[in-house]
Amino acid sequence: MGSILSCDSQHAAAVSSSATDSKNSSVAIIGAGFAGLAAASRLIELGFTDVTIFEAQDRIGGRVFPVPFELGYLQMGAEYINGQNNPIYKIAQSLNILDEDENDESDGYHPLKDITFYSGDCGLAQRSIDKFLKFIAPLEKKFTERAAEEDEADKAESIGHLYGEEYKKFVAEHAESPKDKVDYDAMSHFYQAYYEAEWAADWNDLSLKNFVQYDSGDAVDREQIMNSQGFKAVLDHISANIPSSSIKLNSKVVSIDYSGSGVRIDLASGPQEKQFQKIIVTVPLGHLKKFSKTMFHPSLPQAKQKAIDELGFGAIGKLFLVYEQPWWDPEMTTLVTVGVEGCASSVATDKHFHAFHPLPWNENVLLGWISGPGPAAIDAMSDDQVSSMVTSLFRRMLKNDTIPAPMEIYRHQWTTNPLFGGTYSYVSVAAAKTELSLNEQLAAPIVVDGVARVLFAGEATHNDVYSTVIGAYLSGRREAERLAKN
Ligand SMILES: Cc1cc2nc3c(=O)[nH]c(=O)nc-3n(C[C@H](O)[C@H](O)[C@H](O)COP(=O)(O)OP(=O)(O)OC[C@H]3O[C@@H](n4cnc5c(N)ncnc54)[C@H](O)[C@@H]3O)c2cc1C
Repeated sequence: MGSILSCDSQHAAAVSSSATDSKNSSVAIIGAGFAGLAAASRLIELGFTDVTIFEAQDRIGGRVFPVPFELGYLQMGAEYINGQNNPIYKIAQSLNILDEDENDESDGYHPLKDITFYSGDCGLAQRSIDKFLKFIAPLEKKFTERAAEEDEADKAESIGHLYGEEYKKFVAEHAESPKDKVDYDAMSHFYQAYYEAEWAADWNDLSLKNFVQYDSGDAVDREQIMNSQGFKAVLDHISANIPSSSIKLNSKVVSIDYSGSGVRIDLASGPQEKQFQKIIVTVPLGHLKKFSKTMFHPSLPQAKQKAIDELGFGAIGKLFLVYEQPWWDPEMTTLVTVGVEGCASSVATDKHFHAFHPLPWNENVLLGWISGPGPAAIDAMSDDQVSSMVTSLFRRMLKNDTIPAPMEIYRHQWTTNPLFGGTYSYVSVAAAKTELSLNEQLAAPIVVDGVARVLFAGEATHNDVYSTVIGAYLSGRREAERLAKN
């Protein structure tokens, strides 16, 4: 067995052997999401000829999961591009798939703008809504400024906790009656769901550190909307130079043994005869949290295991509700249902839903966003149960018993799929307590005899744009280049 250590990128680059030697290396890539595909594509560009991707599912794309629907694709996973200053935006621009009308910023952009609130018989007063929206308007900027000022230890405060402090002051000043307080609590839940949907995290575990560490490189981090082809077109583009014979679908890796002179892998179906010289692991953090201790031989270095254990990996949910025709106001852009505590017309499960948007390219489809404990709860339900729940919600909140049930529901149960175990990563309170970036710890390669042998890519390994397709893509290319230099 060679000497095994974990190192950062500079160290890995410093111990490089000749680039020509490395091009003849046999490379296994685990996972055919954007990180794995970007790594393979970059290696092929760099002249590597022996590259094999092992993917557990029967499709490529991972958390980019376009499902054909009429003339386009419903995106069960990633939907938007986070900002413009990144290679995925540039690819989308070159493919002419950006939705120019939807991305028009001429009237000023804010994700909490242009919302239509419905609260059924609960009698949420417009005055309460207006006061509340005024209260929350400056908060995100305030949190970001605070994150920049605080010393490292204080960045481990949770957004939920910080909001609680602001909310106490707001209620003391503005709740003139017990009913006002109940209304504000209901609106607070909506605001919490907004954060939990953006970050796929319980806001009591979402550290302030995210507000300084996450950096899209854009002045305004606006989500860019694509047309009906969306990420399907980007997926085709980034995988175009990878021969299909290099992608082994239905090949779940259960064991990675890097103790000998190379890397041996076992699939669920049995051991692979071929030994690889290098491996790039791109499986989701949610999968590593469940399986890293049994998957790697020898065990992962402590620092990497700590990163796996402490970084956050939460969930959002998406529901595509297909109707014969729209029953909502065609002018409506965001529909939010607000259940008020103690109001007979609202039930506990109403809280699972954050917001609904009509799909820009198909007027008969509503896209529902689920956050907090909602994704896990809804993933455990059948389509029929979800259909009754959502129809009852709309009927009660819009006070309209003629609203039909959806004809079809499209969704993917990310929380119960063990290959993912959720949707994407965030910097948790525990991870923010460590001064080092745990995302960088997760990215550090395992070096054997001076050569980076086991490399790690995937959204959670990107320090600035973790959680996104952009981070996944950049991390795959980063590891391909690291491997080529070693
Ligand atoms: C519902 C949802 C909405 C999202 N919205 C957005 C958005 O709007 N914008 C955005 O930028 N990002 C969004 N994201 C996040 C984005 O999709 C991910 O960050 C990105 O796609 C991750 O790519 P990856 O290559 O790191 O991982 P993945 O895409 O998860 O790829 C990893 C691959 O590894 C495979 N795998 C797992 N275990 C094994 C194993 N043992 N053996 C072999 N293969 C294995 C998996 O099947 C998967 O294909 C969203 C994600 C979800 C789920």
